[in-house]
Amino acid sequence: WVDLHGLIISRLVIGAGPSGLMAAYWMARCGINARIIDKRETKIFVGHADGLRPRTLELFDSMGFQHRVLHEASESTEVNLWGPGDQGKLVRQALLDMTQADHSPYHNTRLSQGRIERFILDSIHENSDLRVERSVVTETLEYEEKLGLDPEAYPITVKLRTLSPEELNTPNSDKQNFETELTHEDLLQDDWDDLGQRGSHKEKVETVKAKYLIGCDGAHSWTRKQLEIPTEGSNTDHIWGVIDVIAISNFRKSKTIPHDQLRLTSTLADIRRVSVVTGTTGTILVIPRERGITRFYVPVQTCEAGTSDRFDRSIITPKMIKSRVQEIIAPYTFEFEVCDWWTVYQIGQRIATQVTRGDRIFLAGDAVHTHSPKMGLGMNMSLQDGFNLGWKVALAAAGTIKPETLKTYELERHPLAKMLIEFDRHWVNLFLDVEPGEKDTKAESMAAMSAKFENFAHGWNVYYPASNIVSKSPEHGDAAIPQNFVPGERIHPFKLRNQADGCPQWTTRLLKSDGRFRILLLAGDVRDSIQKQRIETFTQALGSRSASGSPLLDRYTGIPGRFESPIDIFTIHCSPWKEVEFFDFPEVLRPLSMSTGYAYDKIWCDDACIFDRYCDGTAYEKWGVDRALGTLVVIRPDQYIGWMGNIEDVEEMTRYFDGVLVRKPPVSEIPTVI
Ligand code: FAD
Repeated sequence: WVDLHGLIISRLVIGAGPSGLMAAYWMARCGINARIIDKRETKIFVGHADGLRPRTLELFDSMGFQHRVLHEASESTEVNLWGPGDQGKLVRQALLDMTQADHSPYHNTRLSQGRIERFILDSIHENSDLRVERSVVTETLEYEEKLGLDPEAYPITVKLRTLSPEELNTPNSDKQNFETELTHEDLLQDDWDDLGQRGSHKEKVETVKAKYLIGCDGAHSWTRKQLEIPTEGSNTDHIWGVIDVIAISNFRKSKTIPHDQLRLTSTLADIRRVSVVTGTTGTILVIPRERGITRFYVPVQTCEAGTSDRFDRSIITPKMIKSRVQEIIAPYTFEFEVCDWWTVYQIGQRIATQVTRGDRIFLAGDAVHTHSPKMGLGMNMSLQDGFNLGWKVALAAAGTIKPETLKTYELERHPLAKMLIEFDRHWVNLFLDVEPGEKDTKAESMAAMSAKFENFAHGWNVYYPASNIVSKSPEHGDAAIPQNFVPGERIHPFKLRNQADGCPQWTTRLLKSDGRFRILLLAGDVRDSIQKQRIETFTQALGSRSASGSPLLDRYTGIPGRFESPIDIFTIHCSPWKEVEFFDFPEVLRPLSMSTGYAYDKIWCDDACIFDRYCDGTAYEKWGVDRALGTLVVIRPDQYIGWMGNIEDVEEMTRYFDGVLVRKPPVSEIPTVI
């Protein structure tokens, strides 16, 4: 054993599941001295979560790997609802659209959690030396509350221990499943390489001092328990099974309902479509997945009230789950030879009463909220928690943003966790047994529920309230406030044309998650001489000393080792692309760097592109921006709208930044290095 003491780091992440990896991404991207540990010997490879909502994919696009997800994943935008028809026979009752095509470039998509983790890990590796330290557990946690008040202090002490080979070989729920039987054919090469690194760690105990700690350690969170933060909610008495199989089934369209949509889809196999099937003895959820796999969520047992804690899950087998599917899906057939993964779970809806201690220790993901997996939201919410928290902790640790910004994590994410639990309660009830008379209305109830919660579930609405990073009441007087920009919400993605080369790109990719705030100068029609003058005046205001000191772009502490300024500017005009030149724009909007040349990626145009039908020149209209006047918007590093105003409102915008960003010290205070 090696004993190490007193290692000092900026921050420590406990848990390398979806929320922990997402938080770690920001540390890597912003160059923060951080560590991430996980008690698992490897990442997961099969099973677990699989559903990705559109907003999560938008975030992946801003991180640079959404194309890898789409290359491997299975997508779908409709849900079939099946139930007993007039003669009690299964019929397809409805076909619901689960997306709004013009809301996002992305739709509901399914890919194994292990692959998502692969992509985030790769992105972390591309950006830094940060690596997940595996087979490491936490032993003790101490937090010195008084030290927490000093931003320079390291108030957190954590003892870490590497697990011994004996401990790693203790059976756990994952190993009881299929992971120990993985063969080379089951895995893609990059995952196989990862698996090959097992057992390469040295045993040691060490004490780590940290400025910040993020507990992403799952539903049974050790961190939460150390902080004595209680959870509210309870387990239900319903036990469900999940199987990922290559299904052999003749489950298909109903011939009994004459319906236009059904005629159109008469050749489709419903085993490869998301379906909720209510048979005479229960309701199952059918989810087609990548590589021809289909997932089934199956009710296997209901315990007597209050006895489920004593329920022995080991009595459930894949064979039993198969029999239940056969029973519910009859008269259609269902068999399988290949089972990729299976598990048994109990529905519980719980939420932690707090998510932070002193804005130094935070909880994220399942450590805060647990609920039924059938909604496909746990991983999405966890990824989005980690994303929301990660940039704030990274930039606070870097000295770029004011530490009080960390308060917005609880303010923004905890109400969403409550909404999630509320949604789950309603949703899960629709899967439980209902009285016979109610079965006919089940499809209607599901359709109504989906419609009500759709924007929330897809991650399109987050309702972030006013704070130092969300200015809800613009100080400017009149005019050109875009109707469809809401401070605290995401910027609706559109495809724009690059002014230099004409190539179209989604705004989700344009606004990279690299830690910088972005000023979007929606410059309007710059052929107009008055509008051109307004842009000139704007750029002069950017460069001039405001009443309170240095010019905006040189006013704030950068992201050390990454960016000199934490603010980036994009110009999006709406003149016809062919009638404007890149060099028509003032140089501050397209600066020259000797290493990268002119900033060709900074000037964009909302005009149609002949070879890309998604780039149709309607962004201004759909954002509700006046094409003549344009507008000014600040986008936070996580692509939510922070502030908006008129092109003249540079002073007000500076006040917004002053509330968030740390000012550079006056030149006389910068220590001289000898
Ligand atoms: P976890 O994924 O639980 O990760 C926690 C990590 O912390 C683990 O790697 C663990 O090893 C580590 N850890 C724990 N304690 C310690 C410690 N003391 N020291 C070191 N490391 C520690 N969600 C969806 O969005 N869509 C879906 O389709 C979906 N389907 C699901 C299907 C099933 C069958 C299940 C079970 C879940 C599903 N979920 C789904 C939910 C999703 O898996 C979770 O919400 C998500 O994994 C939570 O991420 P997390 O990072 O917060 O926690």
